[in-house]
Amino acid sequence: MATAQRMVVIGGNAAGMSAASQARRLKGPGELEIIALERGGYTSYSACGIPYWAGGDVAAADDLIARTPEEHRERGIDLRLHTEVTELDPDGCRVRVRGGGDGDGGGGDDSGPGKWLGYDHLVIATGARPLRPGLPGIDAPGVHGVQTMDDGRSLLEALEETESARTGRRAVVVGAGYIGVEMAEALVRRGYRVTVLDRAEEPMTTLDPDMGRLVREAMVGMGIETVTEAAVTAVRTGEGGRVRAVATEDAEYEADLVVLGLGVRPETGLAREAGLPLGESGGLLTDLAMRVRGRENLWAGGDCVEVLDLVSGRDRHIALGTHANKHGQVIGTNIGGGYATFPGVVGTAVSKVCDLEIARTGLLESQARSAGLRFVTVTIESTSRAGYYPGAAPMHVKMLAEHRTGRLLGVQIVGREGAGKRVDVAAVALSASMTVEQMTSLDLGYAPPFSPLWDPVLVAARKATAAVRRAGAH
Ligand SMILES: Cc1cc2nc3c(=O)[nH]c(=O)nc-3n(C[C@H](O)[C@H](O)[C@H](O)COP(=O)(O)OP(=O)(O)OC[C@H]3O[C@@H](n4cnc5c(N)ncnc54)[C@H](O)[C@@H]3O)c2cc1C
Repeated sequence: MATAQRMVVIGGNAAGMSAASQARRLKGPGELEIIALERGGYTSYSACGIPYWAGGDVAAADDLIARTPEEHRERGIDLRLHTEVTELDPDGCRVRVRGGGDGDGGGGDDSGPGKWLGYDHLVIATGARPLRPGLPGIDAPGVHGVQTMDDGRSLLEALEETESARTGRRAVVVGAGYIGVEMAEALVRRGYRVTVLDRAEEPMTTLDPDMGRLVREAMVGMGIETVTEAAVTAVRTGEGGRVRAVATEDAEYEADLVVLGLGVRPETGLAREAGLPLGESGGLLTDLAMRVRGRENLWAGGDCVEVLDLVSGRDRHIALGTHANKHGQVIGTNIGGGYATFPGVVGTAVSKVCDLEIARTGLLESQARSAGLRFVTVTIESTSRAGYYPGAAPMHVKMLAEHRTGRLLGVQIVGREGAGKRVDVAAVALSASMTVEQMTSLDLGYAPPFSPLWDPVLVAARKATAAVRRAGAH
């Protein structure tokens, strides 16, 4: 009887465990041995839920865990927690492993350089690492990241501690990207007076600045002090070395607690050392089957790879769980003997701060320009429901369309309830390479509680169609 092949997975979260689970669905243990190596203590958890856990919407850490280590093991995956891969040897088809305190200790001892573990297929799903600039005081007690379950736990403990300490607590969030604004909401809900600092012109640089301005104005209206063009220079500490304030070049902001939301970079140090192909952002480059380019039995997915942006035709690093899970599914299918590809993304994302929903898909003006595209832009203001229906709230939609062809290039939406997920219509239109004119006749649902007679996305498409026609005359 032929011996089973061995699949080794580095990273036990979204991409890695999706790959392992899918491969296991397709091949039993007699055909494929699956070993998953995770340096932390958790698997298959939703980092996306951490802001809602911190804010109190999600009651318990366990609610964020989709599948426990025991459940994975019951399904025939040899999952080894607290086990770190310290070196890749792609030519020798082996990885060096340290740790393995959990389970069968297959990783070797903690003190030495570790043991080699051979593979037939290797999946690199090492995720991304949060940016933590080397500023004075950045490691002081009271400064929190929000990348991992351990980060979430330590933040929760700090929130509960300070909750009983006194009122009038202040929090500073550094970084006004989607994680920063989601954390601002969480802290507001916990009763903090919140300041958000960002060095950019406007919050949410995943939007054009004119749409980011709407987010800033709404945040200020919610009582969140939002300071832009403010680069943090230091974290000031006080009694017991604890954080007391955050300094920028111009000012100091008092803080009992600081949360960092400065973005992430692909975790590809091992891949770089092993000479694997990396893109401009440092993410691994793969083919459409999620195989590392030029390597037959090496696969990579999730936050550690670059993805093809279908609108600009460029490789980009976009760290989102929705992609990571799909990558894992594709990798697991291919290793399991099936066939699947990940064609690329159109750049869709949605988030919110309190009741303000923020969404985008496709290209921003700056991205379209750097891709060499000529385009028109329109922005419309409409409402989430028929204007006469209770609860109708303003919604802004910005749309980019290519000059002459009228091809949709991007959409950004800022508005209240019901605004954000409207971006999905635009994402589908982008995936289908529709023109804005074709979009105007889309058969979208209408009833007064859900939208005005002309859905805001269609209103924007009509205006964009007219703008393309006008521009075409020149
Ligand atoms: C606060 C927050 C909110 C988010 N919200 C959203 C959202 O709303 N929507 C969305 O789509 N995405 C969201 N994301 C992003 C999403 O969580 C990530 O894109 C997703 O977790 C990526 O999955 P991954 O498996 O690629 O990487 P990760 O989840 O980072 O997992 C990688 C794993 O690899 C392990 N590892 C790394 N190196 C090694 C090594 N050498 N040896 C062993 N193990 C190793 C790490 O410990 C880690 O557990 C959010 C992220 C955060 C932090």
